[in-house]
This record gives sequence, C-alpha cells and structure tokens, in this order.
Amino acid sequence: MEILVAGGAGYIGSHTVAELLEMGHKVITFDSLQKGHKEAVLGGEFIEGNLLNQEDIEKVFKKNTIDAVIHFAADSLVGESMEKPDKYFRNNDIGGMNLLSAMIKYNTKKIIFSSTAATYGEPEKVPIEENNATIPTNPYGESKLIFEKILKWHDTAYGIKYASLRYFNAAGAHKSGKIGEDHNPESHLIPIVLQSALGKRDCVSIFGDDYPTEDGTCVRDYIHVTDLAMAHILALKKLESNGESAIYNLGNGKGFSVKQIIDVARKVTGKDIKTKIVGRRAGDPAVLIASSDKIKKQLNWNPQYADIAKIIESAWVWHKNHPDGYKKRPTQNYA
Ligand code: UDP
Repeated sequence: MEILVAGGAGYIGSHTVAELLEMGHKVITFDSLQKGHKEAVLGGEFIEGNLLNQEDIEKVFKKNTIDAVIHFAADSLVGESMEKPDKYFRNNDIGGMNLLSAMIKYNTKKIIFSSTAATYGEPEKVPIEENNATIPTNPYGESKLIFEKILKWHDTAYGIKYASLRYFNAAGAHKSGKIGEDHNPESHLIPIVLQSALGKRDCVSIFGDDYPTEDGTCVRDYIHVTDLAMAHILALKKLESNGESAIYNLGNGKGFSVKQIIDVARKVTGKDIKTKIVGRRAGDPAVLIASSDKIKKQLNWNPQYADIAKIIESAWVWHKNHPDGYKKRPTQNYA
C-alpha cells in the first residue's frame, strides 16, 4: 500500500512514518519543513511542499498511486491560535481542503485525520467521550472541528472515508532514540520541563494556579507518541477493510496537573526543576481527560506506555542526547 503522510516530518507524523516503514508500507512524506525536520523522516520518499499551494500537492497525486492519506500538516498551538486565528483557519482548513481536492481528483478514498481534544473546549464531563459537546475555546480547536465537518460532507458526497483521531497530549520519544520532540520555539510543557532539567532554561513558568483543580494547575491526559502512531495504523486498517468513517479519542484516561508533571520529571531526571507561577495562558481549559474506550473496543488499540514516568523517561533520553533537537545526532538507544 502506498501511503501519503502530509506533515510527516513533524513530531507525531515522523513517529507514524517510522511505524509504517517498520510494517513494510511504501511511504511518501509531504512536508513544508516550516516546522518539521527532514532528519526526522527515517525512510521512504520525501517531498517538500506546502498544502496551501494546490500544485504542490496535486503533483504528488499525479506522479503516484496514493491508496490512503494520513494528514498531520497543521498548526497546533493553542496560545498562538488565539493571537493569529487567520493563520489557523488558513493552514488547517484551506490547506486541508486542497489536500481533499487532490484526493477527489485522483480518486483516493481514505484519510486519517489528526484532530484534537481542543475540539471539546471546556468539557461538560470527564472522562470525555466522543459524543460530548464540541464547543472549542480556541481557534486551533475550532479549525480542527471545522475540518472534521468538512470530512463528514466529503464522505457523504464523494465516499471519502475518514477516521478522525482526537489526540489529548502527545509526549515521549521513539524507542530507537533517533526521533523525538523538537519545536522552535518550544511551547509544550514536557519538553520545557526537560530543557529546564538540562539547565537550558532557568525555570518553568506554570500558566495559572487558580484553576478549579486539586492543586490549581491545569490537568491533561498525556499519551505516548508511539501509541498515537499505532492508532493511526489501526484506523487505516479498519478503513481498508471497508470500515465506516469514525471519530476516536486518544488518551490514557488519567489526568496529571502541571505541578504533578514537574514532580514526575524531577524524579525521572534526578534534577532540581525550578518553577514560577505566572498568569493563565489564554484558551486553556482546566481539565482534559479522555475516555479511549471506543478505540480500544472497536480497533483493539492497546497503549504500551500507560505509565507517565515511562513516557517522561523516553522523552528525557531524547532531550539528553539531543539538547539542541535535530541539530545534534542521537547517541544512545532507549529500550
Ligand atoms: N503549560 C505551562 N507552562 C508551560 C507550557 C505549558 O504551565 O511552559 C501548561 C499549559 O497551560 C497546559 C499544559 O501545561 O495546561 C499542557 O500544555 P501544552 O502546551 O504542553 O499542551 P496543550 O494542552 O496546549 O496541548
């Protein structure tokens, strides 16, 4: 099977490419490299291009017979989306539409879409199930929810089947030690905490300690990036066997506060990690915890890294060996 991975040089995309290659699939990675890293793509064909340029993506479909698409190419920062909603709707919805137009033209009928827990907004109850209300509190979540609706109507009209995977908080790094998380600038909690453990930052800013949670800091459900990657492959298999379109949550069903994550990181790294409390980050809901029962039941998804210390440990190996991200080469494996 020939699989196009749009945004395959990014964090979750590159880990999915690694699993697809290990399973012997033919993979074409398409990425603008605005945020992705070419070194993160461990094999297959690489094509540099931007989904906002229709010709870039059409060329790929014209030259190859694409059986299925896994679509990661998007902007994904809550804070940035509050300041630049235009960027988010353009890249995430118009870019996605260009991909769908190419799929219609070249008769590709399967797509796995990288969605988010941010589609729910402030949840009415936790753990969150897929049929909970979707009222995003930020343009990032809204842009992803809009694209889920676009997908639904493309299924109705053109028979394009989709699985939309609503990720909670992706974390950790590949067991090979070769790929991991590297954003510039970094804004995610676990990499920031580990950069602080490495002495690359003075301290970690905690965005608000006045939330209605046990210790006042935001609670999130962290899921290992390889467990996420495997879910994409299971979802694709399901569509191949004539499965219907579906939406699935992906998390571990356990919530950890910002302060708890920092405490686990102190234990894993053995380092003192200094913190300071600052104001809330705009657009952040207080608690996001997944129910992943649906994907477990329907696709037999079974996370291998349910333990938060193991997740942070795998990220720590990556950060220790790549203190400057992809600028430095890996030296040690993580078993
Ligand atoms: N966070 C924080 N300090 C930071 C980065 C993040 O307190 O330097 C908090 C953030 O407000 C959120 C949680 O950590 O409640 C996870 O944030 P992250 O950006 O990693 O993921 P998101 O929840 O936005 O997908």
